Amino acid sequence: MSESYQVVVIGSGPGGYVAALKAAQMGARTAVVEMAPNLGGTCLNNGCIPSKALLASSELLHHIAGAKEFGVAVSGEVTFDWKTIQTRKDRVIRRLRGGIKSLFAGRDVTVVPGRGALDGAGRVKVQGADGATTILTGDNVILAVGSEPARIPGWPTDPDRVCTSDEALHWATLPQSVLIVGGGVIGCEFACMLQAFGVQVTVVELMERLLPEMDEDLGPALEAILKKRGIAIHTGVKVDDLTADETGCAARLSNGATVAAEKTLVAVGRRPLTTNLGLESVGLSTDRGFLRVNDQMETNAKGVYCIGDANGRCLLAHAASAHGVTAVQNALGHKESLTAPVPGAVYTYPEIGSVGLTAQAARAQGIPIAIGNFPIGHLGKAMAVGDGEGFAKVIRHRETGALLGAHLIGHNATECIAAAGAMIHQGATTEDLAELIIAHPSISESLKEAAEDALGVALHLPPRQVTQLAL
Ligand code: NAD
Repeated sequence: MSESYQVVVIGSGPGGYVAALKAAQMGARTAVVEMAPNLGGTCLNNGCIPSKALLASSELLHHIAGAKEFGVAVSGEVTFDWKTIQTRKDRVIRRLRGGIKSLFAGRDVTVVPGRGALDGAGRVKVQGADGATTILTGDNVILAVGSEPARIPGWPTDPDRVCTSDEALHWATLPQSVLIVGGGVIGCEFACMLQAFGVQVTVVELMERLLPEMDEDLGPALEAILKKRGIAIHTGVKVDDLTADETGCAARLSNGATVAAEKTLVAVGRRPLTTNLGLESVGLSTDRGFLRVNDQMETNAKGVYCIGDANGRCLLAHAASAHGVTAVQNALGHKESLTAPVPGAVYTYPEIGSVGLTAQAARAQGIPIAIGNFPIGHLGKAMAVGDGEGFAKVIRHRETGALLGAHLIGHNATECIAAAGAMIHQGATTEDLAELIIAHPSISESLKEAAEDALGVALHLPPRQVTQLAL
């Protein structure tokens, strides 16, 4: 059987499903191939959404522990029911899956279940679960195949003991103790969440600080906060050896310490799912597993696009969606490039929001910068809501004044950072940010204050001893 489309998308994660909706909105006959039993990809089924649902339950517990301070009495022992927490998370997932399904129906996007692979130019072969093969012909093919959690070669493979986020998000019962290998985004979010549920958590991070890819001040700040809660954190340390049996896991660390834990969560990054995709049939090959693309998201094969995790540009759901829109616009004849900065968000509490250049990246590029800082704890809003941990940091180009980056750790940081992202996208200066009128009281005020600090004119900080620039 053969069916023909203008756009065939392989994968229905936040890259693929958004690309399909955009293509259909632009009038293209569109199909989406999905091999998993459910729509939504990693983000919805094994990533962003389930983790945020579980974090919401754990954050509530965390706040209840401090309720007395707010004059709120919680009588009796505060407990939680893991099964109900999991059921709630599953309900959130089901609702969003239904949302994608109805959006597809509303725009006549055809879903073709099965594993898709390129089969020469303009052809996609889909192998159904029953073994039947369908050929789709498409003027444009968008590969939105995503990634899977990386595992460490040679380590025990029993997913019940040594698992990845794929399993840990759906644990039927909580372990008493966990060793988390990797202090990146997943490692930090899980550490924060599991500690609130009473799990004894140890994090081992290879690099010198948590969240090594983010601005250099964020990881150490989060580390101090998590350590205060009782999470053991080893940075600049390697797990030299890991064994597992039916009683638990035992790790030997490069700093001489040993860790015993009921389970190990491996959170050391993700690998693109670009094998068995028929790439050779259109003359494509991968580069360290990733399928490289130009700014229009097109690969070296005309009419074949790759978006999201699999192109290796940025492994974030919202980046994938933006890639999807750009790919479709180009596929359907509009030359567009992706220029907007991609914000990073970490859903620990406090949260982290980050956009634009980090201080270390600016330095590495030889860009002259001035840095502004403002402690969240100085804000009226932070005091009122009793959540004063963290700071805002703004990076200014010392010669042009350009707002290069903004990094925020604190209450609601993932929401606040959107304003800084919009300004960077519009090419605003740090002066523009300092001139904004921001609602008072709010946490976003910290960004304006940090911008003022970068200019040496912050009113809510003591006068600078050394001004960073002559005004
Ligand atoms: P990551 O790249 O963020 O972090 C992996 C960490 O593991 C790094 O800090 C790295 O130095 C460390 N590491 C690597 N090998 C190690 C080893 N052998 N021992 C100890 N540490 C080691 O990857 P992740 O946390 O697994 O997340 C995967 C992807 O999913 C990332 O691209 C991330 O951005 C994305 N994600 C995003 C969010 C979010 O935006 N909130 C949430 C979860 C995941």
